[in-house]
Amino acid sequence: MPQIDYQAFNQSPPFVDVDLYGGDRALQDAVAANGGQADHAALSAFGRRWGSAEMSDLARQANENPPKLETFDAKGFRRDTVEFHPAYHRFMTESVAAGLHAATWSGDGKPAPAPAQVTRAARFYMAAQIETGHLCPITMTRAAVAALAVEPAILGKVMPKIASRDYDPHFRPWWEKRGITLGMGMTERQGGTDVRTNTTRAEPAGEGYRITGEKWFMSAPMCDAFLVLAQAAGGLSCFLMPRFRPDGSVNGLRFRRLKDKLGNRSNASSEVEFDDAFAWRVGEEGRGVRTIINMVQLTRLDCAIASAGIMRMALAQAIHHARRRTVFQKRLADQPMMQAVLADMAIEVEAATALIMRLCRSFDLAASDAREAARARLLTPAVKYWVCKTAPALIHEAMECLGGNGYVEESVLPRLYREAPVNAIWEGSGNVMCLDVLRSLTHDREAASALLGQLARDTSDLPGARETAAFIERALSGNEAEATARAPVGCLAMLAAAAALRESAPAEVAEMFARTRLATTHGTLFGTAGFAAGELQSVLERALPPD
Ligand SMILES: Cc1cc2nc3c(=O)[nH]c(=O)nc-3n(C[C@H](O)[C@H](O)[C@H](O)COP(=O)(O)OP(=O)(O)OC[C@H]3O[C@@H](n4cnc5c(N)ncnc54)[C@H](O)[C@@H]3O)c2cc1C
Repeated sequence: MPQIDYQAFNQSPPFVDVDLYGGDRALQDAVAANGGQADHAALSAFGRRWGSAEMSDLARQANENPPKLETFDAKGFRRDTVEFHPAYHRFMTESVAAGLHAATWSGDGKPAPAPAQVTRAARFYMAAQIETGHLCPITMTRAAVAALAVEPAILGKVMPKIASRDYDPHFRPWWEKRGITLGMGMTERQGGTDVRTNTTRAEPAGEGYRITGEKWFMSAPMCDAFLVLAQAAGGLSCFLMPRFRPDGSVNGLRFRRLKDKLGNRSNASSEVEFDDAFAWRVGEEGRGVRTIINMVQLTRLDCAIASAGIMRMALAQAIHHARRRTVFQKRLADQPMMQAVLADMAIEVEAATALIMRLCRSFDLAASDAREAARARLLTPAVKYWVCKTAPALIHEAMECLGGNGYVEESVLPRLYREAPVNAIWEGSGNVMCLDVLRSLTHDREAASALLGQLARDTSDLPGARETAAFIERALSGNEAEATARAPVGCLAMLAAAAALRESAPAEVAEMFARTRLATTHGTLFGTAGFAAGELQSVLERALPPD
């Protein structure tokens, strides 16, 4: 009797038990170029841990078992708690232990010395490759410190709990916990971009305020406290709202439902009512946006880092598969057109990686160097715009490199694909990022001009760089600047990427990027860059070392 042969051949094994750092030359070089080389061994240990088959399987579990809202208990008493799968808690434990939620701050809430931003970003980038949903409360916790800085008394109280490396998921008052996480509530039904339309009200009460209203999106509802915006007598203001009131009773946060989202499924995103909820004011009344924007600047940076990480995983999966799959007696990775597709993606991912790491260096140096502070301020929205917008198309292409397998859940590509668009939407969507760049240019014309001049000088030997810098200057200062801002803002990010590649990548990589993205317009499809056959192999070997 003929037997079915269950030994499949010509299929690639899962991309697991890999070193996400040691196997990523672009990341290593970008970390080194931006001051993080002393951390290489620890980053490699992190890369091996997160690249393990176990973490990969936990990520599957955390996303196949999304959080559940428990509005009431069996007897009808309000609960307003969210139950997460143990795999989610495991990711929180790992990320908090590694300091992804706090490593850029010293124990007193002041910025940690360089290269804290760069080395933490390298870890965040690797973590995003495996499980992105849990990074939502992780990024909000670290970013919240920047907003709380205007209230040293509050920050002094909560900072030891934020800085703790001990994740504590218990539903208890924050002061009784080993460590805490923080979230953020700005968006209401009538406006997320235009938060000045917020109708949630705040009235002084005792040592704080009473907040009444609702938020249409408030993610990670099991955080221990939230930075929220509400209208006080003096205008839109920022508040810190704990889950428990100072007397130890449960605060008035009532969760209506959890959003049924495209991706980001391990993370909960709630609709919430504030029913006379207690909160402390953070910053002066009327300065809510100004206060919370310090937090948003950091979450925007993390959106770009996470998107670059997701792109990296998609690229690695594609190269890994193409090297092991044979078609017409030849490995896919050796087919000329597949090489062109993979190399084009590899150049894009390396540029995004170099760009975010160079931007993190600006954050590292901002406190002591006004030019770097301006660079961080001006480039963050442009970088978020370009990197987060690029991710879905690149992941789609990577998915196709795996053929039908790429469309199937077990390949991981579908999860990466569903995850990608949210980074472009939350924390300020694409158009809003471009408007932000325009606003910065108007307010800070001198610094913007200096930055553009610097980028042009740093890339002067690269094809198309001078013309790109001139185009950005012209387009962003013209009368039609708002209507046409997407093109120059994208170019600004790409010029900064070319400059970053100049610092961290081999000369040919920077040249290939500039030739195909600055000197000519890169098409919307990967694989159309028109690289010469002779330059593809080294790019692919750099992107993922061959066995
Ligand atoms: C999964 C998920 C989780 C979220 N979690 C949170 C959270 O924890 N806390 C929170 O506060 N919010 C959260 N949000 C909300 C998110 O930040 C907002 O959805 C986002 O800021 C956009 O706001 P909006 O939905 O009101 O869209 P709108 O503000 O209505 O914008 C719609 C579109 O119009 C564009 N636009 C806006 N203004 C202009 C203009 N002047 N010119 C041209 N185009 C413009 C925007 O770019 C966008 O593309 C979450 C969203 C998602 C999807």
